[in-house]
Amino acid sequence: MARKLLLENINVPGIHTFDVYRQNGGYRAVEKALKTMTPDAVVEEVKTSGLRGRGGAGFPTGMKWSFLAKPEGRERYLVCNADESEPGTFKDRYLMTHIPHLLIEGMIVASFALGAKTSYIYVRGEMMPQIRILERAIAEAKNAGFLGKNILGSGYDLELYVQPGGGAYICGEETALIESLEGKRGNPRIKPPFPAISGVWACPTVVNNVETIAAVVPIINDGGEEYSKIGNGRSTGTKLISASGNLNKPGVYEIELGLPVEEFIYSEEYCGGIANGKRLKAVVAGGSSVPILPANLILKTINGQPRLMSYESLSDGGFQTGSMLGSGGFIAFDEDQCIVRNTWNFSRFYHHESCGQCSPCREGTGWMEKVLHSLENGHGKMSDIDLLVDVSKKIEGNTICPLGDAAAWPVASAIRHFRDEFEWHVTNPKEVMEHNYGLAKY
Ligand code: NAD
Ligand code: SF4
Repeated sequence: MARKLLLENINVPGIHTFDVYRQNGGYRAVEKALKTMTPDAVVEEVKTSGLRGRGGAGFPTGMKWSFLAKPEGRERYLVCNADESEPGTFKDRYLMTHIPHLLIEGMIVASFALGAKTSYIYVRGEMMPQIRILERAIAEAKNAGFLGKNILGSGYDLELYVQPGGGAYICGEETALIESLEGKRGNPRIKPPFPAISGVWACPTVVNNVETIAAVVPIINDGGEEYSKIGNGRSTGTKLISASGNLNKPGVYEIELGLPVEEFIYSEEYCGGIANGKRLKAVVAGGSSVPILPANLILKTINGQPRLMSYESLSDGGFQTGSMLGSGGFIAFDEDQCIVRNTWNFSRFYHHESCGQCSPCREGTGWMEKVLHSLENGHGKMSDIDLLVDVSKKIEGNTICPLGDAAAWPVASAIRHFRDEFEWHVTNPKEVMEHNYGLAKY
């Protein structure tokens, strides 16, 4: 059985309440950090752990914390990015719903490490139940003396606020989130400066994902070195995976990084194989912002080793993306899935969510959606396929924020790996229409 660091107590009745969470060892990390450690020692422990950002980018957390500027007389802020909106990603919502005090405990420890006296949890606007759950949990923690003035007599003060999000996917991009938190429209800013230098109200700010902050709790409880022993290479610790699509057992799983992908898909401990006895056709391993990989690539062995659920192993070698583990939104497509239809579906999403600030993204996402719609409905031309590749290349790397790349990669990778399926849509318009008419009935 794999070790569980975040979800170990998830099934304990009442774990969402302060009392039950505390009875099960909760808030030990706050006691340890505030009573026995300096803020720098907490940062060092997180560096030793090798923890990497769990929102999608996989940036080393301890390094991000050590980049935080500390100018004299300026406030510093910690903002938790709980604007989880990546298609296929629902692990943060699960964590906040069932064990909200784990996030609050992590926020207290991380805020202490960074010297923040005011911190925010920016929660996706549509997640009203989670906003209420967190507000209730914060009130409980405050009543028990874990928030507010002079926490546990340590002299450290912290106010923690929940901020409902602006209701747009782009508000999850860290600089758009900061704009939105400041009460403005959530448009991404140009980086640099990174938030670590100029974030909320131009003050040094760290923005971390929910799962990243929750992971600080076991790191402080057990030590960074223990944490770093779990996993594979530079992919240390455990990771929450949101599994969806044509799987027998979709859901949220906590895996040890380095688990073979095949084991994750087919073992009874995790997804239990492909639903209805079908064969696996393709996988998007890290939420819709990463390339689509065909089954033979996702399950292939590399230098005699199986492909692993890790930042390094999940790559198809052809795209300029750091990793395809991304946010851990693992979507499986069975043999009956139409790749053109699914690619159009992703494209439609990105076109709708583009903030419109930069032309390649604003125009390109709309263009890709239209061309894919036409192909998917049997009206496409052969030249449309290369046109899509061309548009995706012109978006990639030419935009203010990663939404542009995220829109380009699924299209480019789908054509790269499933070109024959796109061509089939051009040469068989009648079958395409019949198939779509059949789908339309449902
Ligand atoms: P990024 O690589 O630009 O940055 C990663 C983090 O490191 C940021 O916090 C950034 O400020 C920091 N950073 C990088 N270089 C730095 C430097 N020199 N100095 C100081 N700080 C530095 O990526 P990102 O925009 O944070 O995230 C993109 C990822 O988000 C995508 O890969 C996608 O998978 C994911 N995503 C997730 C969701 C979700 O719902 N979880 C939604 C959309 C996108
Ligand atoms: Fe807005 Fe798209 Fe440009 Fe990002 S890439 S800033 S979403 S237009």
